[in-house]
Amino acid sequence: MALRFFNTYSRQVEEFQPRDAKEVDIYTCGPTVYSRAHIGNFRAYIFEDLLQRHLEARGFKVHRVMNITDVDDKTIRGARESKVPLPEFTRQFKTAFFQDAEKLRIKRADEYPAATGQKYIDRMISMISALISKGLAYQADDKSVYYRINKFPNYGKLAHFNLDELQSTGRVKHDEYDKEHIGDFALWKAWDQDDGDVKWDSPWGPGRPGWHIECSAMATALLGDQIDIHCGGVDNIFPHHEAEIAQSEGVTGKKFVNYWLHCAHLLVDGQKMAKSLGNFYTVPDVVGKGYTGRELRYALMRVHYRTQLNFTWDGMKEARESLGRIDDWVERLREITEKENSQRPTPNVQRSTEDSEFEKALDDDLNISAALGFLFETIRETNRAMDEKKLDANTAAAWLTWWNRINDTLDFEAGDTELPEEVKKLAHDRTQARLAKDFQKSDELRDQLNALGWEARDTKDGQKITRRAGAK
Ligand code: AMP
Ligand code: ZN
Repeated sequence: MALRFFNTYSRQVEEFQPRDAKEVDIYTCGPTVYSRAHIGNFRAYIFEDLLQRHLEARGFKVHRVMNITDVDDKTIRGARESKVPLPEFTRQFKTAFFQDAEKLRIKRADEYPAATGQKYIDRMISMISALISKGLAYQADDKSVYYRINKFPNYGKLAHFNLDELQSTGRVKHDEYDKEHIGDFALWKAWDQDDGDVKWDSPWGPGRPGWHIECSAMATALLGDQIDIHCGGVDNIFPHHEAEIAQSEGVTGKKFVNYWLHCAHLLVDGQKMAKSLGNFYTVPDVVGKGYTGRELRYALMRVHYRTQLNFTWDGMKEARESLGRIDDWVERLREITEKENSQRPTPNVQRSTEDSEFEKALDDDLNISAALGFLFETIRETNRAMDEKKLDANTAAAWLTWWNRINDTLDFEAGDTELPEEVKKLAHDRTQARLAKDFQKSDELRDQLNALGWEARDTKDGQKITRRAGAK
């Protein structure tokens, strides 16, 4: 079955046809580094990670760019309020973003352009000049440059506004505005006192770019005039992505993006998780409650990206339990495989290695719920076979091979890096005790690990630490 995605532009599920049979270009709007990203932002990045990994599982080479918005209204305000230069202010949040993304096992993009990079600023200026020369932009009395939206006939098509009813209310200088305040939006913002020393020279005087032109410039600089897939959260559809289309297509005259994919919001108590509402958690907040990045990854990934997901601590517990079931299953399969005592025929081998329902579900607009449904159904069936001692080593090995393959997409497998510091230390001491043949100490350390809810098992590959069944 061919890959299919829901394209926001057409509001339809469409068969995916990349421009190149082997390589797919993806542009993803990255963090605005004015504070630490919250886990709602990371829901968007995890959906993009799943998209990239599934495309790779289907044999594509993915070229992904994620920008860093390090100059805009919010970053400038933050730097001013903190009384530090803009680059110093944003640096801490850039670093935190990469730390959190790593904790959540999000694959790194190929490039992370920052809006303040001089070559991107130069490109923004040249794009704005091109828009002016085509009559699509103009400098207003306030010295800022604005996009003339009624000169771009497709304006509003991504957000599905009724173009006849679209009334411009004049001009908007802010990066963010709603449907009721549609107007000519700012491409270049003339310097004012609030900007402090944040300014660049331009043909229109000193100033700084608007948020929207930043993405058009970075995307086309690194991926070319046309892109296969562009992603973000649904709040990016308008005005940000609408503006990106108007700017990029206004300059190049070519279709900017073939597939627009947007993920629904992460909610808290039924409301969007947002900085402005103060109802957010960061990755360290969740880790501080004793959860691992892997568990948060699971909790943010398990629901279809176009369905809103309510964040709850019960949801985190469920994530822990589900991963525990996967861990136990993988461990049991490994034990059987390691024993290699099979003489029985191998009835499930074919089924486990062929293209499974898991991949087919992801082909269908990344239907992760169905894919995980198939995984847990498989776990139930194979566990039953193992309980009845009917699963031989070859079959277990085939399921492990399948697991390794789908785990390249999910990245859910337990790893030592996920262990809390205290557990890591006890595990390390126990390894040392065993090397020194101090088995009494090794047993004591095992008891201490048990008391904390962890199991230490000695396998031919060394000590393995897993959560004890039922441990909270
Ligand atoms: P920002 O740093 O505000 O530009 O947002 C970065 C990304 O996170 C964008 O793609 C947003 O659409 C997305 N985003 C923001 N809040 C949420 C949320 N509560 N749930 C899912 N995605 C979000
Ligand atoms: Zn963007």
